[in-house]
Amino acid sequence: MDTLYTNIQYLKGVGPKTAENLKKLNIHTLMDMLYHFPRDYDDRRRIKKINQLIPGEKVTVYGQVVASSRVIKSRRRMTIIQFPLKDETGRIFITFFNMAYLKNQFKAGMSLMVNGEVKRGLHGLEMVNPIYSTIEETQEEGVDKIMPIYPSTEGIKQNQLVKLQKHLLPFGMNLIEEFLPEIIRRENKLCDLAFALKGIHFPEDERQLKIAKYRLIFDEFFLLQLSLASIKKNLSKNKNATPFMVEDGLNQLMTKLPFQLTEAQDRTLREILVDLKKTTPMNRLVQGDVGSGKTIVAIIALYLAVLNNCQGTMMAPTEILAQQHYESLTELLGPLGVRIALLVGSLTKGKKDAVLQGLKSGEIDIVVGTHAVIQENVEFKHLGLVITDEQHRFGVRQRATLANKGINPHILVMTATPIPRTLALILYGDLDISIIDQLPPGRKEIKTYEAGENKEEKVYNFVKKQLKEGRQAYIVCPLVEESESIEAQSAVETAEVLAHSVFQDYSVALLHGKMKPQEKEAIMADFKAGNIQVLVSTTVIEVGVNVPNANIMLVVNAERFGLAQLHQLRGRVGRGIHQSYCILINKGKNPIARERMKTMVETNDGFIISEKDLALRGPGEFFGTRQHGLPELKIANIFKHVKILKTAEKQVAKLLKEDPKLTLEQYPQLKKKLQLQFEGFSVDGGM
Ligand code: ADP
Ligand code: MG
Repeated sequence: MDTLYTNIQYLKGVGPKTAENLKKLNIHTLMDMLYHFPRDYDDRRRIKKINQLIPGEKVTVYGQVVASSRVIKSRRRMTIIQFPLKDETGRIFITFFNMAYLKNQFKAGMSLMVNGEVKRGLHGLEMVNPIYSTIEETQEEGVDKIMPIYPSTEGIKQNQLVKLQKHLLPFGMNLIEEFLPEIIRRENKLCDLAFALKGIHFPEDERQLKIAKYRLIFDEFFLLQLSLASIKKNLSKNKNATPFMVEDGLNQLMTKLPFQLTEAQDRTLREILVDLKKTTPMNRLVQGDVGSGKTIVAIIALYLAVLNNCQGTMMAPTEILAQQHYESLTELLGPLGVRIALLVGSLTKGKKDAVLQGLKSGEIDIVVGTHAVIQENVEFKHLGLVITDEQHRFGVRQRATLANKGINPHILVMTATPIPRTLALILYGDLDISIIDQLPPGRKEIKTYEAGENKEEKVYNFVKKQLKEGRQAYIVCPLVEESESIEAQSAVETAEVLAHSVFQDYSVALLHGKMKPQEKEAIMADFKAGNIQVLVSTTVIEVGVNVPNANIMLVVNAERFGLAQLHQLRGRVGRGIHQSYCILINKGKNPIARERMKTMVETNDGFIISEKDLALRGPGEFFGTRQHGLPELKIANIFKHVKILKTAEKQVAKLLKEDPKLTLEQYPQLKKKLQLQFEGFSVDGGM
């Protein structure tokens, strides 16, 4: 083991099974393990006696199990394990919910250390689902230290993670390569990396923890911004784009629109038209809540490209959505003589070749598809405009891909996920933003309800009533999970059950990601045509799908979805003249999930929802920085650590000033780190 990129399997104490489990935590190498930071700490320097405990506080208690654990099966198939723990001053009940595998773990007489929040329970003081360790483990670790608490998953115990880290750390500190040049460390008052790693996992005291965190947070911001800077340097601003000067003919389309544009659409369109007349490429992000009518704006822009003898492309995250855009485009632009093609993975080779040929020769004006449209070896005769829909993750990286191909089209990114300004600036920097902050007129507010599991039947009866009146419904279930402890309904099962029971008199169909594209298309077409009344689905219908007659969005196991996702799902209804409903069946007890439901019921405003979402989840997860192929923010928080963010920003700016090409020749370690940080990335400009 002479490098930290060694497979985790070779770490002492890691067998094949543990290695498999660690993968679930995204730990594949020693390095990953070293960077698996604690999510919290158990401060054992402050072990409290039981008679001093106050409900509401988070503490560590040390005691003996009084009696073997009692296992209670609740009506809802939940397993509750409970036993009293005592010290010389009193006793407290320890309760584990839904952790049936702990059944035989706790025996009378056993010594145990538990850490968690004290609550007032049915039988006095109680601690629910605490972190625990047995006495042997405790002695090994020490009772008077600050112990890390790691993000974990089924099959891996806290203790095991602690043990592995303890074992790894001495090597880790030896092998880790300091990548920040001394001068940068000195100027920013940063400790060295080995010290930081030791301090984040096993801090001696608060001070050391603080110093360690500071360094690691700085690292994340610094590397993120450095990566962005090195990608952006390829996106020279003074590259030439084709200006779309010709506007004759645009009126022909404008008078044919099936509706009048809202003020917000009109304003956004004008902003886009100004950009498109420039000789530098447009880089614009259009933010507009679900249903605000982004598509039409995109279609008009694409038509302008065609009028200017350029080709255009529109990319969507799913084939279903691509198909839908293809239909909208064909409907509006087909009659004007525009030649439109769909390019998706499911095409036969013959058809695909024909499209590729058409794009190369210029016989096709507009191509709609998934991301493959610009990534594969697709050649355009003259690509003038690239539009990506519902893809706030389409970032600098893809722009750079295009730029590196030597193409400088105008670029428009459309998203329903409002990105807070700070984030947008960091990720896009030079991107301009338009906001469609208005819904088309006549939309009725969607009524949103939260329902407990016991109300399911009532809910289904309500749905039936709507179906009888001619409406259609979506029923969305979470993905099938491998883990048995997550009792989520799978779409397959649900469709099966519903089709044969509640909805036996209606036509029910199933849609999920694993189906063949043709099947999916056929089902969507049938649903659109009204031949299918109930569509049971996974989140494949999350984005963009538009069927105005569907007025019910029923989400089963809504507690398993994030806020942004729920909001997107809700956006599938409320698109027609009928009152629409979003019903969230919440089968969980998680307070954060509760909070999400509450937000959904209280507001329809996408901006408020995304802010809430950020607050509940933190930006790393919210934003999926990973998807950009950019370094992840694991410990840094764009909102909490603004000062460190600015410090890192300054440092990057300084570096760029000294070394505008960012060759990083004078800092080889830093260069190496940046290269390793994301595969396929090269500091020298290639992608
Ligand atoms: P999103 O912004 O979520 O992509 P869409 O572009 O799919 O929204 O538009 C949602 C629905 O609203 C579509 O059925 C579209 O035809 C309709 N629509 C868009 N703009 C207007 C408008 N100005 N007036 C009336 N209906 C509109
Ligand atoms: Mg859309």
